[in-house]
Amino acid sequence: MSTAQPMVSCPQCKKSAPWDTQNAFRPFCCERCKMIDLGKWANEEFRIEQAPDLNDFLDSASHPSLTQ
Ligand SMILES: [Zn+2]
Repeated sequence: MSTAQPMVSCPQCKKSAPWDTQNAFRPFCCERCKMIDLGKWANEEFRIEQAPDLNDFLDSASHPSLTQ
């Protein structure tokens, strides 16, 4: 009996990697790709901190989500 292992494409390197529940780096293929992605997120957070846009956020929050 052979069970086909589900494959996922790594969001970082786009390489096909087996979806293994034992893989701690899911959905990434390896630790390296996961760290690269985490680095990207850290960068975005840093940029948000550098340029707060609270007024814009409050303005959009005061409007109903369904615009005319
Ligand atoms: Zn990868």
